[in-house]
Amino acid sequence: MKLPNLLDAKIRNRSKVEYLEAEVLKDGSLFKGKRYFLKTYGCQMNVHDSELIRNLVESIGFIESETMEGADLVILNTCAIRENAHDKMYGFLGRCKHEKTKNRNLIICICGCMAQEPSVCEEILEKYKYVDIVFGTHNIHELPNLLLNRMNKTDIEVESIEGNVYENLDYKRDSSIEAWVNIMYGCDKFCTYCIVPYTRGKQRSRKSSRILQEIKELKDRGYKEITLLGQNVNAYGKDLEGELSFSDLLLKVSDIGIERIRFVTSHPWDFSDEMIEAIASRDNIMPYIHLPLQSGSSRILKLMGRRYTKEEYLALYDKIKTRIPDAAITTDIIVGFPGETEEDFQETLEVVKKCKYDSAFTFVFSPRVGTPAEKLPDETTLKEKEDRLHRLNEVVNALSLETNEKYVGKTVKVLINGQSDKGENKVCGYTESMKLVNVVGAEDSIGKIIEVEITEAKSFSLNGVKK
Ligand code: SF4
Repeated sequence: MKLPNLLDAKIRNRSKVEYLEAEVLKDGSLFKGKRYFLKTYGCQMNVHDSELIRNLVESIGFIESETMEGADLVILNTCAIRENAHDKMYGFLGRCKHEKTKNRNLIICICGCMAQEPSVCEEILEKYKYVDIVFGTHNIHELPNLLLNRMNKTDIEVESIEGNVYENLDYKRDSSIEAWVNIMYGCDKFCTYCIVPYTRGKQRSRKSSRILQEIKELKDRGYKEITLLGQNVNAYGKDLEGELSFSDLLLKVSDIGIERIRFVTSHPWDFSDEMIEAIASRDNIMPYIHLPLQSGSSRILKLMGRRYTKEEYLALYDKIKTRIPDAAITTDIIVGFPGETEEDFQETLEVVKKCKYDSAFTFVFSPRVGTPAEKLPDETTLKEKEDRLHRLNEVVNALSLETNEKYVGKTVKVLINGQSDKGENKVCGYTESMKLVNVVGAEDSIGKIIEVEITEAKSFSLNGVKK
């Protein structure tokens, strides 16, 4: 997607910032003691980007504030995918404007996927003049310079969509137990409803040597679990000549010896037999697979540009379950895609009942500006779509509970990652199959993998006691 002329002009003319890379940034004194407030919307990619943003702003002296009130810098990391994303951003901007009336020096930054959308950038430039900095998903590393270069004007740094892969980035990680590791950026699949290829750019894999080095360092620092992160992880390496395939990368990561390895998100189209074999053959690759279905109707899948039919998806599901019977499988489903009939929806319900997903993220279709699906004729009313969502969720939740109930009385391994919000004497963590467990009697186990006996099942979590 081409950036509009307005942005092209801004990018060409923006003042060169290289000279600002000097001591003033390095000694961290310019912004020393200033407070920043960071709000993140969206998926794991955004959460991980925010870990990078935290490290960048703290390296130049900022300290984090729990609230926007009294902050010197507010950063909103936006999402363009989730429902109501635009409403959320503009609602947040309203609060920022209010704060700016109290503090004229407040710096307001917008970043993330929505900031990468040219139409949104234009709108911010035109209508939200109190926003100081807008930067895209490819320009996060430039934030310190953008802050320095602000000089009372809106500064825009939205690189063209091709983007790069930046290495040697430091993150202020939210956890010292579990870590995200980006293995690739962007996506080439261009599903007709999805904005990601336009906001995050085409697929760019990191070199495997860099990924493995990062994971070795995380292991040395005591991390117990890493999640390989990307929009379409199992297409890893296909854009780099001579690079490892995703299944080979998994095996090399497994060899490092970190205790738990996960990955999100995989596309059914790229799911190879070698990948199934890698998961089945290694104890430290967790038996948890997120396998987005999106629709159970082959006709709708074609309109979505998903590259598989219902039958191909079910054959893959069977292959995984045959080789890894204990694999927990979760999914994403969109209801009310343009043209979806009640019969199409019934096919989705049929697949859900066959697959008995451990859990599913379900959404009503909402069009994204600039995607092909935005222009498809859509005669189904919102009320009908919401009714389908409601019926789907009833089935999904009943199946989740049924699956969870099978855990009662069993002993499972749980990596305890913190205090539970279900009671002071409880901690929580995840099983190998990614079930959230609230545990009693394990207050001293944070950061450890312990054995837990499951005593109660709910739709979205389990309760248990330390053995
Ligand atoms: S594979 Fe996922 S990220 Fe890529 S275009 Fe399709 S839905 Fe979007």
